[in-house]
Amino acid sequence: MKKIKMIFISFVSIVALALVGCGGPASQGEEGKLRVVATTTHLTELSEIVGGEHVSVYGIMGPGVDPHDYSPTASDVDRMEGADVIIYHGLDLEGKMNRVFENMRRRNVKTYAVAEVISDADLLEGEDEEEAFDPHVWFDVTLWIEVVHSVRDAFIEVNPENRDDFTQNAENYVLLLENLHEDIQEMIQMVPEEQRVLVTAHDAFHYFGQAYGFEVKGLQGISTATEVGVSDIQELAQFIVEREIKAIFVESSVPPRNIEALKNAVISRGFDVVIGGELYSDALGDKGTVTGRYIGMFLNNVQTIVNALK
Ligand SMILES: [Zn+2]
Repeated sequence: MKKIKMIFISFVSIVALALVGCGGPASQGEEGKLRVVATTTHLTELSEIVGGEHVSVYGIMGPGVDPHDYSPTASDVDRMEGADVIIYHGLDLEGKMNRVFENMRRRNVKTYAVAEVISDADLLEGEDEEEAFDPHVWFDVTLWIEVVHSVRDAFIEVNPENRDDFTQNAENYVLLLENLHEDIQEMIQMVPEEQRVLVTAHDAFHYFGQAYGFEVKGLQGISTATEVGVSDIQELAQFIVEREIKAIFVESSVPPRNIEALKNAVISRGFDVVIGGELYSDALGDKGTVTGRYIGMFLNNVQTIVNALK
């Protein structure tokens, strides 16, 4: 019975998904449109949704690209120089692009760090002084809604004549996100409370854990720039054995070798753990597929987690 209900919930969300306009990969500089350059796949999709027919969006990072580690190419810089507006995440997610964003501001290109509107009180701590906050806010839908509003406000500032459309597009999308937030809460009820522990390749899921009631352990730190040591693997393996965690997860934007090493370390301790599947962490799936959209990505992740841990 529960299973039927869950499938039903997912179905409703996927139908809702189909109602969101599917903005294709717009070429730059289509006549009369606002030229938007967005960094991550999440922000590329969001810019298309909020901007609708008034924008032509160029996304810098594709599926599977790790934003912590991405260095801008010469052609990215050209695109940014020619943009009417640059939408980036901020909170040091695009750690190797900060200087380029500064340069763009100096050249008077409108450049917005859209996740930095979230108040410090709602942000989780980062790893060190340089990275003061954990940037992975998209894994709490309520925080992502703030980012939707932030993108809307950026577009309105640059292109006030289309204020009403940007506002309406954002409002429609927020309704879908509110449904998504409820669906996720329902779906995770399938996982027994003591199994609500999420072990992944890097620390991308703390907001998810906080919002939806999971304990979260990443093998690497908040940025994938930190190296994994043998002792990290042994420590986490011991934790998995003690807590009898059934499954651990690889991530689409991080090579799987560390999680495989962790699995082997657990098995050598005589406990059977499986790789429960691949989660989309810092990048969406392929464009044109369900996981190429934020809502589809999130439902897919939660379904993968539920199937492995229930
Ligand atoms: Zn990350």
